[in-house]
Amino acid sequence: MIVVMKESATESQIRNVTQKLNDLGYDVHPDRGVNQTILGVVGDTRSLDSRILEILDGVTEVLRVTEPYKLASRSFKPSDTIIEIQGVKIGGPEVIVIAGPCSVESESQIHEIAVLVRKTGGKILRGGAFKPRTSPYSFQGLGVKGLKMMCEAAKANHLVSISEVMEISQIELMEQYIDIIQVGARNMQNYSLLKELGHIQKPVVLKRGLSARIEEMLMAAEYILSGGNSQVIFCERGIRTFETYTRNTMDISAIPVVKKRSHLPIIADPSHGIGLRDKIIPMARAAVAAGADGLMIEVHNDPDNALSDGAQSLYPEQLEQLIPELRAIAKVIGRTIG
Ligand code: PEP
Ligand code: MN
Repeated sequence: MIVVMKESATESQIRNVTQKLNDLGYDVHPDRGVNQTILGVVGDTRSLDSRILEILDGVTEVLRVTEPYKLASRSFKPSDTIIEIQGVKIGGPEVIVIAGPCSVESESQIHEIAVLVRKTGGKILRGGAFKPRTSPYSFQGLGVKGLKMMCEAAKANHLVSISEVMEISQIELMEQYIDIIQVGARNMQNYSLLKELGHIQKPVVLKRGLSARIEEMLMAAEYILSGGNSQVIFCERGIRTFETYTRNTMDISAIPVVKKRSHLPIIADPSHGIGLRDKIIPMARAAVAAGADGLMIEVHNDPDNALSDGAQSLYPEQLEQLIPELRAIAKVIGRTIG
């Protein structure tokens, strides 16, 4: 961390800042320039709130030179982390397709979609059983019954399963029926939930919060990693901006940014990312081109009558059309799609 003093800073203000840092346990290396003094702070400043220094008299700016996250950072682990679930590797050369309905609605629905996902080359079946709906009057998911249906449909079609956990009390059930646990955008900063997920041994897909900065997502992962669970996969799913022509703004740039800063895999969810069926396909192509390690796509056997997110769910034939296109894009950047 670097503390830049004002040109007008007095000797006593510089001494005061230095003393404050010493009291906090840091060594200070001053660089006395012609016009202003810069204080180099030596020590682990990850947990230091820079505002404590910013408010001191004579300080103009405080700059961080090290990341506030550790276990998630590439400086901590330079090589890519590959997360393997029943032979499916996320974070390696293969771009993994995760597809399925927004919500599990019935046995026949999830089975029909699972067959489609398998046939098109998808490796992981998605489907929510506990649904975080904006309105309490909307379909809330089938709960445990839905988890059991997911589990059976995935097994019958040799697919890995992923479903969302909404609260700590559901973790045990998820562990029993589901292979990958999804933390939804609305829970990205539910720190008590994240801490509990640090104590399990199943991979966690951590979705970016609706208004979360990339750094906040990396810090959220730190909660899971520091608890002992090293299997975290980020998911860019769009953020809320001033734009109204789309449901969210899909931040494709987050993909290369996270890849550079973290060794953990990142997948993209263009369905929630843009929220409009006719635009999911171009966003999926863009995410693969940008280096996503996987895609999560909502697809439904009957989107027009879906109980949630029908308007952003692909028709089966659209998924069938999309995957070969994604394969072609993946090939150009030296990757594959199963
Ligand atoms: C979902 O995957 O169905 C979902 C609710 O996603 P998000 O948390 O990104 O809104
Ligand atoms: Mn959805």
